[in-house]
Amino acid sequence: MSPANASHNRFGAHAAPITSATYGFGTLAIHAGSEPDAATGAVIPPLSLSTTFKQRAVGDFVYEYSRSDNPNRSNLEAAVAALEHGTHGFAFSSGSATTATVLNTLQQGSHVISVNDVYGGTHRYLNKVAQSLGVTTTFVDLAQIDNLRDAIRENSRLVWIETPTNPTLRLVDIAAVAEIAHEAGLFVVVDNTFLSPYFQTPLDLGADIVVHSATKYINGHSDVVMGVAVTNNDALASKLRFLQNAIGAVPSPFDCYQAQRGIKTLHLRMRQHALNAQRVAEYLEASSFVESVIYPGLKSHPQHELACRQMRGFGGMVSFRILGDTHTADRFLQRTRLFTLAESLGGVESLAELPARMTHAGLAPEERNELGITGNLIRLSVGVEDIEDLIADIAQALDSAVRDNSDEIAI
Ligand SMILES: *Cc1c(COP(=O)(O)O)cnc(C)c1O
Repeated sequence: MSPANASHNRFGAHAAPITSATYGFGTLAIHAGSEPDAATGAVIPPLSLSTTFKQRAVGDFVYEYSRSDNPNRSNLEAAVAALEHGTHGFAFSSGSATTATVLNTLQQGSHVISVNDVYGGTHRYLNKVAQSLGVTTTFVDLAQIDNLRDAIRENSRLVWIETPTNPTLRLVDIAAVAEIAHEAGLFVVVDNTFLSPYFQTPLDLGADIVVHSATKYINGHSDVVMGVAVTNNDALASKLRFLQNAIGAVPSPFDCYQAQRGIKTLHLRMRQHALNAQRVAEYLEASSFVESVIYPGLKSHPQHELACRQMRGFGGMVSFRILGDTHTADRFLQRTRLFTLAESLGGVESLAELPARMTHAGLAPEERNELGITGNLIRLSVGVEDIEDLIADIAQALDSAVRDNSDEIAI
């Protein structure tokens, strides 16, 4: 039992650790890993910045050295484990450090199968770093499940999926992938960043490890860079615990404290993100200034049925193609007042960006074409502001950006 879950807390109201077996999501978000402080009764566990801890006798300690473990990190790890319905949680200094650490569980000579429109940084790590460490990757379109069977080799060890994908919000059927992968003895890792555990819990669908860029929805306030991983598998957990300490890409206690504070409202934020995103998607779909809209909550999404089956909500990310070209898109992005032109996502504030020239500029043009990342494709991270204000902001920016198309043509 981790110290955070210990039930011998003098001030603790809870006789047993707060786990997902007994409580709902909102209760877990607020209470898991957040017992009143044993020494002072402080309802919010204090920020513990000490890098080292006094031992009562040699080897007799709760915490030893802060890279290995510390109170704020173990509290946060208990919270994310509970929310993802896992038994072991791990926090890292970024989502990318999480990816690197998980892939470091593989031996030299291993083969990975990854969904083709995986997060750019994951693609880069697999292609440029893992490759040089002797781990090779095949990227496949996992919307066609037979592609997975075809890609499995004798040295395949792991399937890496992301669903929904970025920025075209394609879905992968996690249960179907897990079934095929497990038959062949492969582990399944799901990057659950885009939905958060509020809307999707991949471990329940058969995944072995779930990872997040906690920089996004989990922290939710665009002021912490962090990653987390959760598993139910004890053997994988002990490898991850070893590598977390050995590689040392760990977050600071302060960032853990901030992220845990963010988690306490994850359920409230996610509900509002999804309500607002649905309204924005429907507004865009009805607009004559828009070519097409991608949102899993729209009936027009090609995998809407899978979305309804696999997810408990459709999330806060909406992508759309504005009527016009990349210049029209650029004008739209300059003319919104509430949607800030910026990379990243998942914070309370609304953001907008142009994947072809920002987050996905690193891809070759052919790769972008294949994935449908056109020059007029805009990605929105719909925040939790008042929906009327967000729609009005989009309406005025669309109107003015698209109207100037005809000016260009007239000239
Ligand atoms: C941002 C992101 C990452 C990388 O996380 P960092 O915290 O930026 O290192 C990984 N996966 C997805 C889906 C992301 O959006």
